Amino acid sequence: MGISTNPTERLSRPQPHFINGERVASGGLRDVLDPATGKPISQLHLGGQSEVDAAVAAARAALPAWAAVAPDERARLILRFAELMEANAENITELSILDGGLPRMIAQGSAPFASLFLRYYAGWTNKITGKTMPSSAMGKSPNDLLAYTLREPIGVVGAITPWNYPYGMEMLKIAPVLAAGCTLVLKPAEDAPIAGLLMAEIAQEAGFPDGVFNVVNGLGEEAGAALTAHDDVDKIAFTGSTEVGRIIVKAAAGNLKKVSLELGGKSPVFVFPDADLASAVPGVAMAGFLLSGQNCVCGSRLFVHEKIADDLAAGIAEFAGSMQIGPGSDPANMIGPLITERQCERVEGMIARAEKEGARRVSGGNRVDRDGWFIEPTLFTDCEPDMQIVREEVFGPVISMQTFSDDEDFESLAARGNDTTYGLSGSVWTRDLETAMRMTRLIDAGQVGVNCHAAMDPTMPFGGNKQSGWGREFGEAALDLYTKTKAVTLSWS
Ligand code: NAD
Repeated sequence: MGISTNPTERLSRPQPHFINGERVASGGLRDVLDPATGKPISQLHLGGQSEVDAAVAAARAALPAWAAVAPDERARLILRFAELMEANAENITELSILDGGLPRMIAQGSAPFASLFLRYYAGWTNKITGKTMPSSAMGKSPNDLLAYTLREPIGVVGAITPWNYPYGMEMLKIAPVLAAGCTLVLKPAEDAPIAGLLMAEIAQEAGFPDGVFNVVNGLGEEAGAALTAHDDVDKIAFTGSTEVGRIIVKAAAGNLKKVSLELGGKSPVFVFPDADLASAVPGVAMAGFLLSGQNCVCGSRLFVHEKIADDLAAGIAEFAGSMQIGPGSDPANMIGPLITERQCERVEGMIARAEKEGARRVSGGNRVDRDGWFIEPTLFTDCEPDMQIVREEVFGPVISMQTFSDDEDFESLAARGNDTTYGLSGSVWTRDLETAMRMTRLIDAGQVGVNCHAAMDPTMPFGGNKQSGWGREFGEAALDLYTKTKAVTLSWS
């Protein structure tokens, strides 16, 4: 293998861009910090308009030939990419720990998760089909014409991704983009930038033609903004905050490029009195604390029946207290760092305000006295709907709890859960079929779990309602984001 994935070697020099199959080291430099120590682990070249122009030109030039590659050959290359991700799994685990601050148990999933997606979308390359229609256009009989649709690659895709779980967030876009026959310019998050370049180089090693998969590193307001506004980009696939999602939509208006958005969340978790508490306690705790709450599907708004509220709160507090906190390099640590000092201060500020507004802290709430940016898993009870901790996405390990009683019917309870601008995920914990069936229909979210929260699988569409996004990734649905439909009418008389 030509490229090295060895962490020491990779991090020892500044991370360049990857344009038309070449490493391009241009633009100013910024430190890449390990969130577990706050210390630099590498440097990053900051690209801007000229790097984006070069990458988009390379992607445009590569598009016709790549779109014309036989689907089976595209599948072969994607499968080879998956094999190389697996072959480099150990190094990818170490890099995920250093770059994104992931606990080891999650970092170990980075390469398998990415290759799972590659394998799934490799299988789609020869199943992206059109339809024939019984058309009577122009007053003709269907016997006198053939009306059908073609699914064509949408073109040059600009992908902009967040820092939490970088291999996963990026691969959700890379795999379907490549399967659909599109070319790609990826702008990874500047706070976790190692994965993008690595995966582009692995793809090149797998045999993808130059220009099919390009990476421009840099800041959102510079490289990201240049990509979003670029007139030769056909589509932007964005994952990140709702705030930046709004900026993306406006910036994309110039050439009216297509836009899909995977944004924030404030997902409700409902625990009914008949729930199996032995599994609900760890399940609900992990829904809120996984990745230190730095995930869009975080189950941060807990609604629990008053009969079991004390038991559930005590169980979550005990579970939280048992979660060892520290760098992902130690496999015993379940709670890793927040990504930046800024994010850590923001979460501390939200915890302080929750207490000021009258929420009762029953576990955690403190910053850990060590290098890096660690916050204890935190549970607040006695929360009210208008508190900041209930309304705003924290992106930290904080659960806010409210109770409900037998007086509330399913509709009013679901309405409390839906009282948010977001609609990404949600879950219901019960052993009763009617409760499960009614609540899953009433929750206004792109995804609902019963006795589980945010199960992620490549076969299942994923995306948000309301201000959590536009469109669906994962599954067959993602192919709609990267293809366009052409209607053809063929008349022979
Ligand atoms: P962010 O919105 O700050 O940044 C995301 C990406 O956008 C980064 O690459 C950043 O450089 C870029 N960006 C920033 N400003 C830009 C601009 N003006 N133009 C173009 N690009 C710009 O988000 P974040 O802090 O990295 O990630 C956290 C957010 O992402 C949370 O709100 C979380 O809920 C959301 N998220 C959503 C999903 C999902 O699938 N729905 C998944 C993960 C994270």
